[in-house]
Amino acid sequence: MIYSVIVDIAASEVDRIFDYKGEGLQVGMRVLVNFANRKTEGYIVEEKLTTDCPEEKLKTIIAPLDDYPVISQDMLELGAFMRQAYHLRWVDVLRLFIPAEMRAGRVKTLSKRQAALTGDNVDEILNSLKSNAVKQRALVSFLYKNGASMCAELNAQFGNAALNSLVDKGFVRITEIAVRRTPYKDLNGEGNSRHVLLPAQQNAVDTVLANLQGRFLLHGVTGSGKTEVYLTIIEKIVKSGRNCIMLVPEIALTPNMLKQLRDRFGDNVALLHSGLSVGERYDEWLRLKNGEAQIAIGARSAIFAPLSNIGAIIIDEEHDSSYISDFNPRYNTLDVADFRAKQHNAFVVMGSATPSLSGYYAANQGLLTLIEMPKRVNRRPLPEVEIVDMAKETRSGNRGIFSRLLAERLKQTVESGNQAMLFLNRRGYSSFLMCTKCGYVAKCVDCDISLTVHREDGMLKCHYCGKKYYMLSKCPNCGENSFRQGKIGTQQVVDLLNNMFPDVKVLRMDADTTQTKESHGKILEAFSRGDAQILVGTQMIAKGHDFPKVTLVGVLDGDQSLHREDYLATERTFQLITQVAGRSGRDEATGKVVLQTYTPTHYCLQLAAKQDYNGFYKKEISLREAGCFPPFCEIVRILYQGEREQECIDDLTSQYAELTNLKARYPADFMYMDKMRCPLKRAEKKYRFQILLKLSKNNLDSLLSQIYAVCDNKKKNSVQVFVERNPQNLS
Ligand code: ADP
Ligand code: ZN
Repeated sequence: MIYSVIVDIAASEVDRIFDYKGEGLQVGMRVLVNFANRKTEGYIVEEKLTTDCPEEKLKTIIAPLDDYPVISQDMLELGAFMRQAYHLRWVDVLRLFIPAEMRAGRVKTLSKRQAALTGDNVDEILNSLKSNAVKQRALVSFLYKNGASMCAELNAQFGNAALNSLVDKGFVRITEIAVRRTPYKDLNGEGNSRHVLLPAQQNAVDTVLANLQGRFLLHGVTGSGKTEVYLTIIEKIVKSGRNCIMLVPEIALTPNMLKQLRDRFGDNVALLHSGLSVGERYDEWLRLKNGEAQIAIGARSAIFAPLSNIGAIIIDEEHDSSYISDFNPRYNTLDVADFRAKQHNAFVVMGSATPSLSGYYAANQGLLTLIEMPKRVNRRPLPEVEIVDMAKETRSGNRGIFSRLLAERLKQTVESGNQAMLFLNRRGYSSFLMCTKCGYVAKCVDCDISLTVHREDGMLKCHYCGKKYYMLSKCPNCGENSFRQGKIGTQQVVDLLNNMFPDVKVLRMDADTTQTKESHGKILEAFSRGDAQILVGTQMIAKGHDFPKVTLVGVLDGDQSLHREDYLATERTFQLITQVAGRSGRDEATGKVVLQTYTPTHYCLQLAAKQDYNGFYKKEISLREAGCFPPFCEIVRILYQGEREQECIDDLTSQYAELTNLKARYPADFMYMDKMRCPLKRAEKKYRFQILLKLSKNNLDSLLSQIYAVCDNKKKNSVQVFVERNPQNLS
């Protein structure tokens, strides 16, 4: 038999199949092969009877690496789809499908040594031991009382010598048992909080289960009980013998979902997550592969759960940008979910309190079924949001970070023994220019996108059209010269709070304080226990736990993400503000939200304060249509990264020339094209450049494949070229 193999080497030159001979192997198996005179791992992707490879060159597969195919036929089909849709290399795709550590044999099933008495007549054993063998006698009694026990535990308690000696005498037997490594052990079920569905929830469940196919968008305000809807659907599907995938943006920030799934489904749930230890990840993956667990939960990579017979894929917080992978391999989890659902005749449910504009637009176009849950379960009012005009504060002499209102509310909260969260809206790398007197923000006249300050030439620049403007010396709106570019830092805020409230404990959560896997959880837990009264953080604190004692949420710089150089800025800001506001007053005490901004009348903030998603959607979608931004066109970024600047420029320049030719052939479809340095000019020692394109949707597939072809044709191996479709991040 001939087997087509993809070798496990990440290089474009070997991104094709190589044929080998072999017997009795299966498609999807990992194998060891001789490749370029070295033993290399590979994946069988096809089985066939003949090959074009000349007989004398055809080598034989050395050995299979596992005794079963690790990648199923339908995953190979998914791989082919992703390869084509995102222009990925085979290896990069296949590596997504198995736990990384399986490769190169770095992980095995964990076993532990267990000791047990060989007989049950304990008196007889004790009689034959010397009376001064105190430890051995104690160990025997212990085993008699407690039954089989872990050797590690016994050694710690009685010493290695005692155990070894009892084994030598034949009184104790040692066996190896497989141990399952369970991630986040403490997040499991005590008590089961099953609810009788409310009419809106029942309607959502019925709508989905009546169809069992296609895509559903569940738009439910925060606290409308979406989780109960997911759980009910999963229960039905699992009972019918089919399997489910449940995606959440980030397990560490939303441990509740895992906890609730385990409460209801126990061991039938497996967690897939890049933050797990090597062994945990492997064990959980294997349980899904073997059919020991029917439900996979995890962040975006869990969409590749090795499940057969999938009935439902559920995607919580559908709008979250983490569903789009913005490093190699780049893919959109929602597309992948769609493809897998179609393969299995399954359905996809996407839920959010603030659906992505493109998702809601698709629903309005009838491409997916919209289900609305507009009310909170307990009818508790949404928190009251007060907008503070920071320009007014500045004019009246307060140049501090806190407005007088926020300072006052903080004091009240702290004194009443409640908790507060202060949120810094920091995103992106570039800074916009804003007048602190009137709130004016410099924008591109053609694109209505905030201009970015370029330090090297002191110019203002639009990242969509590349147009440059002179730096402003005075505000065109109010005539003052009082511009601000900087950002407020979390540490700065903490210092200030320590001064204001010397006796109040303050916690901080940002990229600096959350370097390790557990640190997110630890900070949130400490806050939830009441170890601190104030939590200061970046967008990380927007999601996550319910904190019943939080009665005040302060957003320090509501503008910061509003004026990014990015068409998604307004949408992201709306989502963030709605989310943080939802943190306040989850319990009986009504929550207060103070939103500080220099642009208090901006529709995004006004509507977010009212939690008016539909109002926001209508306004924003009409602006997207007028300015022609997605979903009305496709934005494509071609990213060039390399350690040598000139090589990046060379590749960029030559490909730009080729694309210019392409543009000349399709003038109507190329709505815009320009080349530039990325706002984040250098990262991880690599220089970064980009070509930005705006394409019409008419000819998209054909245009994309031609653009990919241009990008493949690069001169410098050391330069990486990536094509991103509708990137979530243009930094
Ligand atoms: P969402 O995910 O939509 O923000 P949750 O799923 O977190 O909302 O539900 C909000 C709260 O309402 C939770 O505390 C949940 O236990 C409770 N809840 C959900 N459904 C019901 C119901 N049918 N009856 C009573 N309480 C419910
Ligand atoms: Zn512009």
